[in-house]
Amino acid sequence: MLACDDLLHPHPHVALLPSAGMGHLTPFLRLATQLVHHHCNVTLITTHPIVSLSESKLITHFLAAFPQVNQVEFNLLPLDHTTANSTDPFFLHFETIRRSAHLLSPLLASLSPPLHALVCDVTLISSVIPVTESLHLPNYILFTSSAKMLSFFSYFHIYASKAGDDYPAMLGDVEIPGLPSIPRSSIPPLLLIPNNLFANIFKVDSPKVTKSNGVLINTFEGLEALSLELLNGGKVVEGMPPVFAVGPLVPCDFEKGELGNNQLKWLNEQPVGSVVYVSFGSRTAMSRVQIREIGHGLIRSGCRFLWVVKDKKEEEGLEEVVGHELMESLKAKGLVVKNWVDQGEILGHKAVGGFVSHCGWNTVIEAAWHGVPILAWPQHGDQKINAEVVESSGLGMWVASWGWGEKDMVKGDEFGERIREMMGSELLRGQATHIKEEARKALGDGGSCEMTFKRLVAEWKMKS
Ligand code: UDP
Ligand code: UDP
Repeated sequence: MLACDDLLHPHPHVALLPSAGMGHLTPFLRLATQLVHHHCNVTLITTHPIVSLSESKLITHFLAAFPQVNQVEFNLLPLDHTTANSTDPFFLHFETIRRSAHLLSPLLASLSPPLHALVCDVTLISSVIPVTESLHLPNYILFTSSAKMLSFFSYFHIYASKAGDDYPAMLGDVEIPGLPSIPRSSIPPLLLIPNNLFANIFKVDSPKVTKSNGVLINTFEGLEALSLELLNGGKVVEGMPPVFAVGPLVPCDFEKGELGNNQLKWLNEQPVGSVVYVSFGSRTAMSRVQIREIGHGLIRSGCRFLWVVKDKKEEEGLEEVVGHELMESLKAKGLVVKNWVDQGEILGHKAVGGFVSHCGWNTVIEAAWHGVPILAWPQHGDQKINAEVVESSGLGMWVASWGWGEKDMVKGDEFGERIREMMGSELLRGQATHIKEEARKALGDGGSCEMTFKRLVAEWKMKS
């Protein structure tokens, strides 16, 4: 029987609009599972075309697991690449969606029952907000990075305006009210290159955050209390809408690929906490020279390891990329693979005791969820700002002098030494375990996550 309140205010209908890349799609699908759990009707808007095979596979698995989720396809207009100032397929896809946004209007208006809200990716906001405004539809943002990065993103237009026409030359460190200053060297490098696509999107989107009804973010108090407090207190920028900490958004069953049988078998044979897992996310390929230094460093560390190699040439075999001789030496202590792995399963395996990571935000949250200490090696984008969170929360260590991985070389000896340091640190292990406990509390019965979703659902019902 329906409760009286449900008759008055039926379950809210929420549409989700992700943008490109696994790092953006994954948190959206995890959010969708939470919304279903909290009795929302969910429509997933998928773009056509889509950038990568991994994304289309993940969407298929998700829809098979959640048949109650409605899927609608959003056909994008072709983009004239010569007008976009970028060669990155993911940024170009952001831009394609942005330039097609006006076509969303009839699509959103045609959904039945009528929508209570749209949650869109942060990289789309300045083109999507006018659409939702014209439909009088509440607009929420899913921010796919840290609360510290959200502070930086919201404050960015104020920071950039200080340089006026001299942007970006005249800019120094970023002094966000209430937060420790963010050094210029931690700013996503593309933002310091005038006129590239990423910087342009970032600049026009930054002042638009305050036009949304709320920001959902994949983090929790136990990891980022200060940033959340400042954002919600309106200290970072005036007029900030409520920031809903819906994290940790953790790996779900529909994401489970086949963890290569030999990986699982090998991990099962290793002592508890002895293995360092080394991976740099779904997008970061490294130079051959750096790959080989990493290989030498792993041997030098004396630790067991599971290393996921990502080369610029997807089709090249592992032996070619790493080199036959080095590969033979590596086999003595570890496992090296060059394919997509089930990261959730690896981080949750008892043999894994440490993680060398680029600090993509989903990855940081996954490591926090499993209490695995991180040795941060940011490669590009938001990753240094995330590495600051890793370090200041106690989840891991960051060797800031290594610089940006995509630009500066780290020698094998140094790499190996730091791995030994992380794997040997009782202090880091204790801190990471504490953060894991906080993450479990946040997601547990009556935890902050449940409270936050209840607040959101109540807000959406009121807006009906
Ligand atoms: N970002 C943002 N607004 C934008 C573009 C990017 O806030 O208009 C943030 C977002 O949090 C994103 C991060 O910058 O996750 C880094 O973006 P990038 O595309 O470099 O990395 P990705 O996460 O897509 O791999
Ligand atoms: N991931 C995975 N297997 C891989 C590489 C990545 O499962 O071999 C997942 C990882 O668990 C995370 C996402 O892909 O959920 C990557 O997102 P993140 O924000 O960490 O970094 P990005 O890949 O966008 O740089």
